[in-house]
Amino acid sequence: MTTTSRIEWTEQTWNPAVGCTKISSGCKHCYAETMAKRLKAMGTPGYENGFALQILPQRLLDPIKRKKPTVYFVNSMSDLFHDRIPDGYIEQVFEVIEQTPQHTYQILTKRAARMARYFKNRSVPDNAWLGVTVENRKHGVPRIDYLRKVPARIRFLSIEPLLEDIGALDLKNIQWVIVGGESGPKARPMKQEWADSVRLQCAKQKVAFFFKQWGGWGADGQKRAKSANGRELNGRTWDEMPREALLAVG
Ligand code: SF4
Repeated sequence: MTTTSRIEWTEQTWNPAVGCTKISSGCKHCYAETMAKRLKAMGTPGYENGFALQILPQRLLDPIKRKKPTVYFVNSMSDLFHDRIPDGYIEQVFEVIEQTPQHTYQILTKRAARMARYFKNRSVPDNAWLGVTVENRKHGVPRIDYLRKVPARIRFLSIEPLLEDIGALDLKNIQWVIVGGESGPKARPMKQEWADSVRLQCAKQKVAFFFKQWGGWGADGQKRAKSANGRELNGRTWDEMPREALLAVG
């Protein structure tokens, strides 16, 4: 089963595994956990055990059935490089990715060390974009060096939820940076100067910058009204995509 996504930078989600365990500060208000509990209560297949990790091989072939070129966000409800997902299963996921060059797959992890280990002696299909979450200095920034080791054509950072000023970033061999604040009733605030610092570093290092959303708090440091436009930073939207992706379609 694939699902149309409400995430601003992708089209569909594909969850060949669901469920996860928390690993760092960015997980505190995990959207997937809340959603999994809701889906369990609704009796949705795949969520019988709520947020417990489960691999779902019956979903492996879903992208093969879809001919229309689609951008998939893989494992929006889990983390593909979770230590309880065996290498052999990750290989099956990447076999499907290789067999469907008409699609683009965006894969985001907080288990960057495992991802780097997995790809030490393996190649990455051109249609797989690999990314890491960078929510803070302590847990997030060290993941960037692991990502750089992975031989992907497009490597990206999801700086969301941005929880503090993450300081100077080395963006060498990074093609795309997404920034966003935290959503939900317990959202932690994001300051404009933190997001701006990342934007300016992207401009200086010529990396595509995408501002996803403010989340629960606005640029003025106040809780945001639901109706407020949450996608503008410094008076405009930032929807840049990696140059390598544009070259592929153009
Ligand atoms: S890694 Fe992602 S899916 Fe897993 S608990 Fe953290 S935020 Fe949730």
